[in-house]
Amino acid sequence: AIDVRDLHKYFGDNEVLKGIDFHVDNGQVVCVIGPSGSGKSTLLRCVNMLETPTKGQIFVEGEEITDPDADVDRLRSRIGMVFQQFNLFPHMTVLRNLTIAQQRVKKRGRPEAVEVARRNLAKVGLADKESAYPAHLSGGQMQRVAIARALSMDPDMMLFDEPTSALDPELVGDVLAVMKDLAAEGMTMMVVTHEMGFAREVGDKLVFMDGGVIVEEGLPSEVLANPQHERTQSFLSKVL
Ligand code: ATP
Ligand code: MG
Repeated sequence: AIDVRDLHKYFGDNEVLKGIDFHVDNGQVVCVIGPSGSGKSTLLRCVNMLETPTKGQIFVEGEEITDPDADVDRLRSRIGMVFQQFNLFPHMTVLRNLTIAQQRVKKRGRPEAVEVARRNLAKVGLADKESAYPAHLSGGQMQRVAIARALSMDPDMMLFDEPTSALDPELVGDVLAVMKDLAAEGMTMMVVTHEMGFAREVGDKLVFMDGGVIVEEGLPSEVLANPQHERTQSFLSKVL
């Protein structure tokens, strides 16, 4: 579970998050939408401490990661992150991309790391690509490799920041299908996305952010069909 309490983030004197409170239960899929610059990525990056919050608290499974004495590396290792840009190592095969962090961070031996990698490649439908280099994959395949890489670290939860925004439209579905399978397996997920169909179908909760605050949240079907705030209505009228 993730608990965020009164989270504020400044970049210089620009307040980008202005008091965010929210909760993700274990097994829940929370989708986050909102205009460009509303703070969605900053929020996600605060949750795994890629950005240091200016004020407020974040708890992962009840442990405060914002505590100055917290073991941030250990807590972060429980949170998988997938970005819009896949960030694969271009000079390594797919298999090596999946084993290197397991060996270095998880201290797994190579046979075990390879076994875990192959299991996760099969899960994202890319068992036959382990020897390929990223440059020879489509964007959708690269993103599925990035998901398999994150899963190979055995995370308790996964954060996705616009995982399909850089993809050609015909490749989006394959990535969303993998994410849907993960959700069905009970993975706890926070997903920043513009895919309203995914949010409606897979999300347990939809959060609309604007100007560094959560303007509105609720069941995706209800927020999408019947937004309560003018800002949500105006945003949805542009994207739906
Ligand atoms: P998008 O939909 O375009 O990805 P977003 O909702 O993810 O937008 P953020 O990337 O979180 O928005 O940015 C929120 C605000 O914080 C923006 O005004 C941005 O310019 C600013 N910002 C983000 N990262 C930094 C940084 N490292 N240094 C300074 N300002 C930043
Ligand atoms: Mg962003």
